[in-house]
Amino acid sequence: MSVGLVEETPYRWRIERQGAMRVPGVVFASRALLPDLSEEQALGQVVNVATLPGIVEASYAMPDMHWGYGFPIGGVAATDVDHDGVVSPGGVGFDISCGVRLLLADLHIDRLRPRLTALMDALDVTIPRGMRHGAVWRLRRPAELEEILTGGVRYAVAQGHGRDGDLDHCEDRGAVADADPAAVSARARQRGLEQVGSLGSGNHFLEVETVAEVYDEPIARSYGLWPGRVCVMIHTGSRGLGHQICTDFVRTMQAAMHRYGISVPDKQLACAPVSSPEGQAYLAAMAAAANYGRTNRQLLAEATRRAFERVTGDGELALLYDVSHNLAKLETHRSSRLCVHRKGATLALPPGHPDLPDDLRPVGQPVLVPGSMGVGSYVLAGVPDGPAFASACHGAGRRLSRHQAARTTKAARLRAELEAAGIAVRGASARGLTEETPCAYKDLDAVVDACAHAGLARIVARLTPVGVVKG
Ligand code: 5GP
Ligand code: MN
Ligand code: MN
Repeated sequence: MSVGLVEETPYRWRIERQGAMRVPGVVFASRALLPDLSEEQALGQVVNVATLPGIVEASYAMPDMHWGYGFPIGGVAATDVDHDGVVSPGGVGFDISCGVRLLLADLHIDRLRPRLTALMDALDVTIPRGMRHGAVWRLRRPAELEEILTGGVRYAVAQGHGRDGDLDHCEDRGAVADADPAAVSARARQRGLEQVGSLGSGNHFLEVETVAEVYDEPIARSYGLWPGRVCVMIHTGSRGLGHQICTDFVRTMQAAMHRYGISVPDKQLACAPVSSPEGQAYLAAMAAAANYGRTNRQLLAEATRRAFERVTGDGELALLYDVSHNLAKLETHRSSRLCVHRKGATLALPPGHPDLPDDLRPVGQPVLVPGSMGVGSYVLAGVPDGPAFASACHGAGRRLSRHQAARTTKAARLRAELEAAGIAVRGASARGLTEETPCAYKDLDAVVDACAHAGLARIVARLTPVGVVKG
């Protein structure tokens, strides 16, 4: 199908309704960031999502959009729960509740520099990655896994793995309600047992960064982002447990769809009504995976605090915010109950939102946008009346496939370039490093700029990397 784009504003493009589309598509991007119309797979996915039963407003795509499983990454789609709206596991993705958190050290980068190598070495041994290094927690009893699946970060903090303020600064205050471990398959639990507190691989990372530039002084002050301040960004998700849950429910829904009279243009869009037994079971399992993903980031934050304590004598890193970028949530927008899928898109709550903690409510939610290994990240803030159900971009977004990236990059040269730029790298395999080369990602400045111009979020500060632990 050929996809035509109508320019609504320089940062907002519409795909007119056609064929089975129930709503238009809307892509937030500058002209330069728009996917190439000659290889329009990702735009075709925006069109496909627009056919889902119950979808309202539009099938949205953020400026970092690219091709994904069924839904594009950077896709946002809301369905009306009371009008046969569906939930689709492909609209959340395989890494359920993958997300980022940002920790703030009470330390200026100039004071850390002399000890940076020691800190990176400490993180290298403290932060488990992949299967090889195990995880922060060895679960001895399956009952402990149940506690994590239902209690999320609240359980971790109750066990002494956290401090005051951690829960307040997590989305949903650390735990998604309505999680039901019984909806999680035995295979998914098995995969989850050994990975609580582990980064995983590839795109997941722990990065030591410093505040390089402040664009919005008042909000930056409220967030505690002052120039030179040392921060740590952690990006990981729900590991094998979430992956298995997605696999299980794509299969379940593919088998069940015909019973609800649903047909979709791509079987990767398998879905079921939110109110159906399959829809409810998926949401209960997804919530359990979300709690697992958040606990995972909490334990890695605790490990980071220990490494800082050992090397700098101060492990009191404060949590600015922890937010998922792969999740479906039941939310009320303009008095409709909606199931909002954000896949590779982050929640961006506006100022005044009741879900924000007291200290963040006046200014809006911190929106954490990682760029790439060499480039660092941005902190944005949620704005009033953002389009796309209070969502924003979740990263720079891939430009090259892993395979393409690996083919065009030499690991040794990349490592040398990063080290020469003052960025210490730990833990990446040669293959992993080349797949994650900064050239594999879009231009972060352009993506964030488009986000701001499209009215999705406000730019607060830019963070530059000084060391990265790659999964
Ligand atoms: P995803 O969740 O889609 O895998 O990744 C989110 C975003 O993280 C990507 O779009 C990319 O821009 C960013 N990213 C990937 N690796 C790194 C890294 O090592 N450091 C930073 N700062 N960002 C990264
Ligand atoms: Mn992930
Ligand atoms: Mn992610």
